[in-house]
Amino acid sequence: MQFNSRYSLLPSKLYHHQQPLPLKGAKAGHFNAALAEQLQWSEADKQSWVEICSGQKTFSEFEPLAMVYAGHQFGQWAGQLGDGRGLLIAQILDQHGQTIDLHLKGAGSTPYSRMGDGRAVLRSVIREYLAGHALNSLGVASSNAVGFTSSAQGVQREKLELGAMMLRTSDCHIRLGHFEWINQYQPDLLDEFTQRCIAWHYPECLDAEQPVLAFATQVIQRTAVMIAKWQLVGFAHGVMNTDNLNITGSTLDFGPYGFMERFRPNWINNHSDYQGRYTYQQQPSIGHWNLWTWLNNLIPLCPQDYDKEQWKQDLADCLEHYEPTFLEHYKLGLSQKMGLPHFHTESFDCAMTFLRILQTEQLDYTQSFTRLQNQQYEMIKDDCLDRRQFEIFLAQYEQIRANQDTTELNAAMQQANPVYILRNHMAQKAIELAERNDFSEVERLFDLLSHPFERNVALEKAEDLAPLPTDVPEVMVSCSS
Ligand code: AMP
Ligand code: MG
Ligand code: MG
Repeated sequence: MQFNSRYSLLPSKLYHHQQPLPLKGAKAGHFNAALAEQLQWSEADKQSWVEICSGQKTFSEFEPLAMVYAGHQFGQWAGQLGDGRGLLIAQILDQHGQTIDLHLKGAGSTPYSRMGDGRAVLRSVIREYLAGHALNSLGVASSNAVGFTSSAQGVQREKLELGAMMLRTSDCHIRLGHFEWINQYQPDLLDEFTQRCIAWHYPECLDAEQPVLAFATQVIQRTAVMIAKWQLVGFAHGVMNTDNLNITGSTLDFGPYGFMERFRPNWINNHSDYQGRYTYQQQPSIGHWNLWTWLNNLIPLCPQDYDKEQWKQDLADCLEHYEPTFLEHYKLGLSQKMGLPHFHTESFDCAMTFLRILQTEQLDYTQSFTRLQNQQYEMIKDDCLDRRQFEIFLAQYEQIRANQDTTELNAAMQQANPVYILRNHMAQKAIELAERNDFSEVERLFDLLSHPFERNVALEKAEDLAPLPTDVPEVMVSCSS
């Protein structure tokens, strides 16, 4: 490993150094060998991955630390938060020279644990492990993980569960909530912190006339792109609090997430989300709300010779980039999924008609796009109660495509429509087996989701392709398990 231990260059009020509390009796769960390779792990490190991923082995090049941050949770100011059960155990260079954080989740309590026990349970570790891998394979910027370990050591949740630890990777663990904490509790650190963030994550902004404004615009645009991609693959993050969004627009901290099956825009996958704040359809506007909240923290960075009111206005103007960026990526991606030409004036309308059919007929989002791609129009129609509606759609759809080069459109479609997503019942099956010490299903799903756009008949099971029957209740998941 090549270390780039830069977080501890920050003022020490922003973190607390501490060693992980090792997971007792840890044994191998799963190891992402390809990722370890990209992160330039040595053979010796690969050999000892179980020790590393269970807190038994740390690196002399980096002193592990818990970060402090704050946040708005479910729209309310929550005050000080922080790494309550995870530690940054290294920052290393990947094969492209990019700095990647190694964050050990479940590493024991910290000064920021509040009432929590500092532990993670096997169930939620497997969910995060597989989803991070799935998102990365789908081309959505996200944290990932090198591996996880599990233990017979019990952890009390709603019931007694098995403990686990996961070594998460991300290009950034600096959250919007870091700025909120600084502004609230240590405003004198804001300038230095922001400068570091820019230099580390957006060095190109240093050359701008107003680096802070350029930085804000970049954060806003990257977040918009990330959320557009979530919408396209049907991913619902589940807990988009400001402490769970980072400044590089890569997906982070998605405990109670879900990949949407039947197309229900107002679907709530997080059962602690009583008001449906974080439904699939709300994600773009919540992203906007979070960024607006965040921008307020940049007001004190007004340069000395700058008009204060103008500065506020300029910050607000940065947010004007959000919606166009989101729409540009969402519309482009949607036309690719549909196999329609992006610049055709009727394409977006036609896509919306298709989505409305999926919604009224409660059809599976992923499977319906795969069927459209494979021109299995009869199969979609057979699942519709209102077949006439589908025929009207199909006529419009075929008419738009009639005068186009469909070879290219079909190729784009294949890149845009996954065959496999991580359905809740797939993850659930893998978890139940793992809880009985059988990790074969985790392994199978990991392999299947490595190439989600390609059919893999040798590995797949029939239930990987379809939603559960309507009479089977869905698995609900809650925060912070
Ligand atoms: P989350 O909703 O999972 O993003 O967690 C919100 C905050 O609670 C974060 O600061 C976490 O570090 C903290 N937290 C969650 N679960 C635990 C736990 N079991 N022990 C200590 N802190 C926790
Ligand atoms: Mg400190
Ligand atoms: Mg969190």
